[in-house]
Amino acid sequence: MKAAVDQEKCMGCGLCVDICPVEAIQIVDEKAVVDDSCIECGACIDECPTEAITLQD
Ligand code: SF4
Ligand code: SF4
Repeated sequence: MKAAVDQEKCMGCGLCVDICPVEAIQIVDEKAVVDDSCIECGACIDECPTEAITLQD
């Protein structure tokens, strides 16, 4: 499991990229994309201004 980005809510601001401690997020075509190195810390969820990121069970 890893953080999931709602592509409709993401505006590509990059705040999640900067806060991620393991550099798991990149901006691709102005949307955040999370790779498998995500450790589910939740930092990006709190940082996102549009609540685009969620962690699911
Ligand atoms: S949950 Fe943590 S490790 Fe995963 S993408 Fe967000 S900031 Fe990075
Ligand atoms: S912080 Fe939210 S809106 Fe900004 S790039 Fe990340 S997921 Fe998208």
